[in-house]
Amino acid sequence: MEKLSYASESSASAWTTYLRQIDRVAPYLGELARWTDTLRHPKRALIVDIPLQMDDGTIRHFEGYRVQHNLSRGPGKGGIRYHPDVDLNEVMALSAWMTIKCAAVNLPYGGAKGGIRVDPFSLSEGELERLTRRYTSEIGIIIGPQKDIPAPDVGTNGKVMAWIMDTYSMNQGTTVTGVVTGKPVHLGGSLGREKATGRGVFITGREVAQRAGIGIEGSRVAVQGFGNVGSEAARLFAEAGARVVAIQDHSATLYNEAGIDLAALGDWQTRHRKIAGFAGAQEIDSEAFWEVPMDILIPAALEGQITLERAQKLRCRLVLEGANGPTYPEADDRLAERGVIVVPDVVCNAGGVTVSYFEWVQDMASFFWSEEEINLRMDRIMTEAMSSVWDKASEKACSLRTAAYIVACERILMARQDRGIYP
Ligand code: GLU
Repeated sequence: MEKLSYASESSASAWTTYLRQIDRVAPYLGELARWTDTLRHPKRALIVDIPLQMDDGTIRHFEGYRVQHNLSRGPGKGGIRYHPDVDLNEVMALSAWMTIKCAAVNLPYGGAKGGIRVDPFSLSEGELERLTRRYTSEIGIIIGPQKDIPAPDVGTNGKVMAWIMDTYSMNQGTTVTGVVTGKPVHLGGSLGREKATGRGVFITGREVAQRAGIGIEGSRVAVQGFGNVGSEAARLFAEAGARVVAIQDHSATLYNEAGIDLAALGDWQTRHRKIAGFAGAQEIDSEAFWEVPMDILIPAALEGQITLERAQKLRCRLVLEGANGPTYPEADDRLAERGVIVVPDVVCNAGGVTVSYFEWVQDMASFFWSEEEINLRMDRIMTEAMSSVWDKASEKACSLRTAAYIVACERILMARQDRGIYP
């Protein structure tokens, strides 16, 4: 296989993790395995320079990306991340995970992802808007409702999506709501989208817990990340009778044996933009988070969190990957040896993109559904996806991750094979 000059395999990166996941699925793909290299090469990657006039009159330059990993099954789909650690390597991995995710839950999309290397909290609202509009204009040559549809990810939200929609629409000369999902509801957004990812984490967790004989009521839950995904997943588990004993974010690790009051913590976080300083729990050392006795762990922050060392220490039965790529391949193996079940990101956190798909469909039809209908349809898609992945894992005696990759890669590579190579 030709090595990609911009994707060195030697560094311990998200892209390396992804490549190793593909290596693991290849032996299960039979005849289709001859197409596997397709998945090791992003179809298209755009790097853009974003000059920004700061409020104080100085000019700064930011680097932005949009990667379309695979478009065999439909237009590209995937979020846009604003974070100081964003680089091409990370965006490539995130775009590839979107390809697998959309296929694993059978949405008619390929995979894409974008990002800007920036700390969005260091910018004023005006700076953030100008940055977003220029980035949108720069990637405008490859996105579009039939080509590639961005959405929120770490560091972006509905407000940013509204600016993207407006900028793209201004350049087109007509309002194009379907160019982006995760928009505010009054601008062609969908009910239920904001909570969808956390909700999907709960649904897949519920399905797997039931099959594995793990009771949710009375179980101990630990959550890393208290953003959009972690807070909603934690809330749903608490509602189902679980006790959320530990929560970690970039600012602190909180522990409360009796269970953390999530509504009170939510209020604190809205006011302070971090969980540190919350009086309803004890602050513990960040590394101690991985040793808290728990039944269910929900990593819902960034990739590369569950290392081999942490996998060795973890005292839990079920890992629900709310984040993309939180577990290194060698940690995956250790968890499997220790009997810990990992529900992989590509199914576990697919609730978000599933409701993004509903949003896109509603925008194109200009006909909007009720929240009840959206949640019902999402529950059905996630439950069915989890069930086929569980059955595949039993049939092949492999991990849920490899099973999800088998289900997804069969769909993607079948499309690849039947479409053939042009010219
Ligand atoms: N950024 C989310 C993800 O990683 C959502 C993507 C989307 O809705 O298109 O799945």
